[in-house]
Amino acid sequence: MRFASLGSGSRGNGTLVEANGTCLLIDCGFSLKETRSRLARLGKTPEDLAAVVVTHEHSDHISGAGLVARNHNVPLWMTPGTRAQYNNGFVPDLRVFSHHETFSIDAIEIQPFPVPHDAREPAQFVFSDGNHRLGLLTDTGSRTEHVEKMITGCDALLLECNHDPDMLAQSHYPESTKARISGDLGHLSNSQAAEILNAIDHSGLQHIVAMHLSEKNNNAKLARKALADVLDCSTDWIDVATQDEGLDWRTIS
Ligand SMILES: [Zn+2]
Ligand SMILES: [Zn+2]
Repeated sequence: MRFASLGSGSRGNGTLVEANGTCLLIDCGFSLKETRSRLARLGKTPEDLAAVVVTHEHSDHISGAGLVARNHNVPLWMTPGTRAQYNNGFVPDLRVFSHHETFSIDAIEIQPFPVPHDAREPAQFVFSDGNHRLGLLTDTGSRTEHVEKMITGCDALLLECNHDPDMLAQSHYPESTKARISGDLGHLSNSQAAEILNAIDHSGLQHIVAMHLSEKNNNAKLARKALADVLDCSTDWIDVATQDEGLDWRTIS
């Protein structure tokens, strides 16, 4: 099983998960042209995708999903709540999943779970090929017991480290935006991500990736340090998926 990032952050998200010949694109917040070029960077084309699965309706996750689905005849999956909010054009094969029920797309099993975030019915996921588990947790405002129960014991984890609270407080963002980001339905700070990591079984992690970093209110060094402190490892061991470069393939073995 392996995974890669097309890009991560408030200007667009996309994650590839591949196992036993099945390749899924999780979220697509890029234009069609940009999506194609970012896929090509990772050795993929839209024709390689078995499905696009979106986490929620915020544009940095969904703006390009319908375009890929429509132009390349790929099924697009979302929760009923996300579907109710979906307005990015006709999709020939739109499918819904419950964010409390495990489902499969070809060789990959997907365990969705709800997260506290200011969208209609947001989901995040644990992916499995039967041997290994990969957790994805971004766009989450606060810790919940259920979230931690879902992602405990993963072999690899993609974990939101959105902001440093001091940088956010000192930023020029409007107070309402600061309150939204740091609120219980906003985004995880580095320290909240560290608390979650500390609370779960992380002993089997082969990879950990800091995701969805704010370009203005965070930096890779701070995110790496927060996670490395919990794992008691070198900061070099912590991967960061960036907005422009994403992250190259990482293999779980
Ligand atoms: Zn987002
Ligand atoms: Zn969001």
